[in-house]
Amino acid sequence: MTRKEYLVKQKEMGRHLLGVFPAQYPKEILWAMNIVPAEIWDPPLEITLANAHLQPTICSVVKLGMELILQRKCDILDGFLFPHTCDSIQNLASVINDYMKTEKPCYFFYHPKAPYGAAGRDFYRNHLKELIGSLEKQFGPLDPDTLKQRIHQGQKISALLTELYDLRAQGELNITNEEFYSMIRHGEYLFPDDFIPELEAFLSQNKGQGIKGQARVVLSGVLPNPPEILTLLDDLGVRVAHDDFLIGSRRLLVPANDLDDPFENLTESYFAMPPCSTKGSSIGERAEYLFRLVDATGAKGVIFNVVKFCEPEWFDIPNLKEELKKKGISTLSLDTELNQGLSGQMVTRVEAFVEMIG
Ligand code: SF4
Repeated sequence: MTRKEYLVKQKEMGRHLLGVFPAQYPKEILWAMNIVPAEIWDPPLEITLANAHLQPTICSVVKLGMELILQRKCDILDGFLFPHTCDSIQNLASVINDYMKTEKPCYFFYHPKAPYGAAGRDFYRNHLKELIGSLEKQFGPLDPDTLKQRIHQGQKISALLTELYDLRAQGELNITNEEFYSMIRHGEYLFPDDFIPELEAFLSQNKGQGIKGQARVVLSGVLPNPPEILTLLDDLGVRVAHDDFLIGSRRLLVPANDLDDPFENLTESYFAMPPCSTKGSSIGERAEYLFRLVDATGAKGVIFNVVKFCEPEWFDIPNLKEELKKKGISTLSLDTELNQGLSGQMVTRVEAFVEMIG
């Protein structure tokens, strides 16, 4: 079933649909209110309308998100949620909500940025409650017991994804790079009742059959797009042993906690997530995280696959490369546009990099 067919079916089942822009948001609250979050990262569209509303130096996540709305492909949705991920998403929220006056309700979610102090936790808890208050006006009251149940499902998903990432890191999954990301990205729109059994089946079908002797790299950036980067690595016999993607480990690998209070639980989860450029994490924290991924997997290099004009990522990369170089870890950075494929020059650079670390 395609993503669109799935969302139509969810609507027919009586669930609400919210278009959610990148990147981190308390999905458990949405699930508890019978809302399916349909995340909007890289819809496969040709940009024909959005350029008239945006400056040319904006990332294609924002351009494609606006294009999706302008092409009226969001008509099925009941509203939009804009987490305060970066200036570009913040500005997109303003353009859509204040200037374009979309007929859909727009919600906003502000999370604290590092360095975190004690006030950050209060701030986060308060924003969780504010978000619930605003959603309740459209979707009805939140049942606290249902929220606890959805938090439990969120933890189950994190545990399954962690197992999947760990098996891949150890070379004990017999799947391609493309298949791995295709699977985990189903979580961008599947309701947990459907995603959990799908993850469980995927794990049981593919674990314990790893391909030996593959070269290993860590990928960093926002998301694995253009998808041709994964195909190319597959063709070259290179395993992505771990990732530092905003769409991936930075928000998916959340350590479990057993706090009974749902707001404490969600707050603890947020602050336990890996470091991220969009949260203002320091270069030291980010470099340390990358060192850990390289050490744990025996990867020979890090490829930064970064969306063109993504300011939070590009600000960090020169310093991260410097830190990795000091440890003798090879790096390659690619400046890519979503859904635009890899140029011949990029392919040659990846091939040369793989040969060098080989
Ligand atoms: S690609 Fe970068 S700039 Fe664009 S929305 Fe994502 S984090 Fe923000």
